[in-house]
Amino acid sequence: MKRVFIDDDHFHDHCGIVGVYGHPEASKLAYLGLYALQHRGQESAGIVSTAGQRLEVVKGMGLVQDIFTSEALARLPGHAAIGHTRYSTAGDSSPLNAQPILVDCNKGHLALGHNGNLTNAREWRRRLEHRGSIFQTNSDTEVIFHLVARSAARHLAGALADALNQLEGAYSLVLLSPDELLAIRDPRGFRPLALGRLGEAWIVASETCAFDLLDAEYVRDIEPGEMLRIGPGGLESIHFAPEKPHQYCIFEHVYFSRPDSIVFGRQVNHSREMLGRLLAREQPAPADIVVPVPDSGVPAAIGYSLESGIPFRMGLIRNHYVGRTFIEPEQSIRDFGVKLKLNPVRELLEGKRVALVDDSIVRGTTSRKIVRMLREAGAAEVHMRVSCPPTISPCYYGIDTPTRDELIASRHSIDEIRAFVGADSLGYLSLESLRRAVGDGEGQFCTSCYTGHYPTELVQLEVAVERQSH
Ligand code: SF4
Repeated sequence: MKRVFIDDDHFHDHCGIVGVYGHPEASKLAYLGLYALQHRGQESAGIVSTAGQRLEVVKGMGLVQDIFTSEALARLPGHAAIGHTRYSTAGDSSPLNAQPILVDCNKGHLALGHNGNLTNAREWRRRLEHRGSIFQTNSDTEVIFHLVARSAARHLAGALADALNQLEGAYSLVLLSPDELLAIRDPRGFRPLALGRLGEAWIVASETCAFDLLDAEYVRDIEPGEMLRIGPGGLESIHFAPEKPHQYCIFEHVYFSRPDSIVFGRQVNHSREMLGRLLAREQPAPADIVVPVPDSGVPAAIGYSLESGIPFRMGLIRNHYVGRTFIEPEQSIRDFGVKLKLNPVRELLEGKRVALVDDSIVRGTTSRKIVRMLREAGAAEVHMRVSCPPTISPCYYGIDTPTRDELIASRHSIDEIRAFVGADSLGYLSLESLRRAVGDGEGQFCTSCYTGHYPTELVQLEVAVERQSH
């Protein structure tokens, strides 16, 4: 029997992080927080807690609900905890890379959870290995600990600042020691991290949907370049790095984050509906119904329908219980992977001209199967509308993306993509409207996967070299 990956043809966020300080059931709150952040990573999860002397850890492969049984949570006592849920590509999916990562070093017993990607970690790792450092994982996150241990600073916060000021790229971090919880966002603020309050306890989380589940109040975002120290003395804010132009990941609003979260100070659902409204203005379609690719395409499709006056219909139903892999039948069934996830509602589609709204086209392979599925269910025409611009370049800031050559829009015109996916027409949202929909008046968002221009030097250099060698 052959087990194969479902090609869902999306960018994937690498991780979700949560931290709790000052609550007698800290690990249980961290667990619930991870539950709310499960969409940010489904391959492994971990929680580290402390009662003030040592760190306790439980981590494993799988979903949050499978790893944290009541017995497992009983092994995580204390008033402070951090949690991490991780997505990984098939190659590095191993228990060794599950986070939080723990070390015992000259700065104490420490645990770290990271959402993002350090763009100069490879160079640092090479240098450190050359000088004799031994790495336990193949994750970029471990470099942070090596640099912390080498810092001359006497206190943890200073050592961490030293380490981070030598690193480039995207990082939202939660770090736990027996004494304190640190929450950090990189100076460009690529990935989100928010601060919440539950009675006397402090909570930090990648997205505010975690606060809603805990009945915690959203206080504010951790600022780019800010390190929050949360300990027995309360909360201290340190700006550990020189200011840099902000680069909030715009894709968090297009696809990654939950619509019920407030991300970068803005409700994601509001952005997504706005994406749909602007898409309807820029790319009208001669359609009888608007159908989303569920779930992520739903808010934009609602916006498209409201703006155009074309009725919204759930013409595709998603099965929510499908994992990332499945066993393929020996007798091949066409488009089996997509059919496992999505099924058309024939009654709604028969004889209809459909405006199909999705949040992105990555390789184009899934869109092609969905268009075929709609036609086979009786749709008279399929007009595909995408609520962001063509994705032409990979992400180096903590998102799992295919290589440039695999991104269909990096090598093909819009009409060639239309022909490949088999749609009657294809329209993308412009970059200008994308920025408008997320309220980016001052150019504070990263849009590199749509432009191919990167805000960090090393990446821009690598990309230029790669382009020359093609
Ligand atoms: S390149 Fe795209 S996915 Fe990556 S941080 Fe920038 S906007 Fe987000």
